[in-house]
Order: sequence, then structure tokens, then C-alpha cells
Amino acid sequence: MSRVLVVEDEAHLAQGLRFNLEAEGYQAEVVGDGEAATECLLGQQEKFDAVVLDIMLPGKDGFTVVSELRAARNYVPVLMLTARGRPEDVLKGFASGADDYLPKPFDLSILLARLQGLLRRSQWVRGQHAAEARQSETGNEDDFGSFSFAGRTIDFGELELRSEHSTIRLTLMESELLRHLVRNDGKVVSRKQILEEVWGLHEDTDTRAIDNFIVRLRRYIEDDPGNPRHLLTVRGVGYRFLAHP
Ligand code: CA
Repeated sequence: MSRVLVVEDEAHLAQGLRFNLEAEGYQAEVVGDGEAATECLLGQQEKFDAVVLDIMLPGKDGFTVVSELRAARNYVPVLMLTARGRPEDVLKGFASGADDYLPKPFDLSILLARLQGLLRRSQWVRGQHAAEARQSETGNEDDFGSFSFAGRTIDFGELELRSEHSTIRLTLMESELLRHLVRNDGKVVSRKQILEEVWGLHEDTDTRAIDNFIVRLRRYIEDDPGNPRHLLTVRGVGYRFLAHP
């Protein structure tokens, strides 16, 4: 059973969420502020599979909570709740390390679908990792779970990008975006396609969120991020990944 932490200070909404999550078979806990959330998530006893995190909280806000989690190398999938009509919240949320977002007010079925998507992706990643471990035990190499280019290896199972000098931990969505680009090696992918296929977003989302992620990925995979060779912008369309430029 998946455990979900709901961080929301509007008691009515929080209790409604808990009730519905439990009705869907999740185990749900509610906290009402940012301090309690970080305590809960970074403490030793508690283990959660996903977090529904409101931005506007008393004291420490949602952006701070997710930044602190990532700084502490906690990569629990985070679905952020943003106020309607505030694309800057979305961008800031992704930049802080959130994996997905939902504008308020939201439809409960959409929240459940998004949460399920996040859990499925993270379980898939973990399952993949376990399958690889089994394979390496039998000495049967399979590089499906990783991809190497230009002295770097993206490990989709460990959510890591390794090079000779460093290991960078990736968030779930950074890893999924890289996977999508790598799968389309050499082909142009549009921002819309990325939003639909990586985030599962079909609504008219501000595509600057993608650009923000691309800037971060370039810092990870390019020797000179200002002059990219692998992750190229295709003006007016989207991006193209080239493993071997
Ligand atoms: Ca709030």
C-alpha cells in the first residue's frame, strides 16, 4: 500500500484529500505546515511514497520544503499544488525540485490520476533497478536501464548521472525527461510532446517550465552549458538530443 503525505493548511481540503486517498486504497497522513512536513519526511521513522505539497503554507512554504528535501538527498516524488494563473509558481516549483504540479482548484480525479502517474513512474524505476541487479548477478548485461555517451552514463534505475569526476543525483522528472530525449536521439522533440509524454499534461501549460529543466540538464551533461553540443534548441519547435554530435 502506498503511503502519501498531504501537506495542506486548509483543514477542510486536507481532510477531504485524506478521506479520498484512503478510499482509493492509499495510506494517507496530513500535516498542516512546512516545518511538520520536513520533520515528517526527513525524520528516521517515517517513509512516504509520494507527497502532495501545497505552496502557500504558514511559516515555511512549499518551495522551501521541496528544496530542503532535495538538498538532504530525499527524492520522494512531490506533486505540488499551485494557485491558478501563476505560471511563475510552476517554474519555481520545478526549479525547487518538484516532480509535477496541479493548479488549484483541482478536480479530485485529476489529482488521483497525477499521483498515480508519479507512483507508477517511481515504482517502475525501482522495479527496473531490481531487475538490473538480478541480471548483473547472473552476469547477464543489459543496458536498457542506462545510457552512455561522451564519457557520461545516465543510470535510469539509480536516478544518477555519472562521469569520471562526479555523480549527479537526478529527480524522477529530470531522469524521465532525459530518457525521453535519449530515446529520440537525433530527432527533434517539441515542447508540447515533452509535456504530454513526460508529464502527461494535456492542458495548455506554460512551456517555459520545460526550458527551465533543459537549462538544468545542460549543466549536468554539457562541458560548456552555454554552448551545448548534445542538447540543442530547435528554434520555435523544441529540442534535439545528440549522443554523438
Ligand atoms: Ca495553503
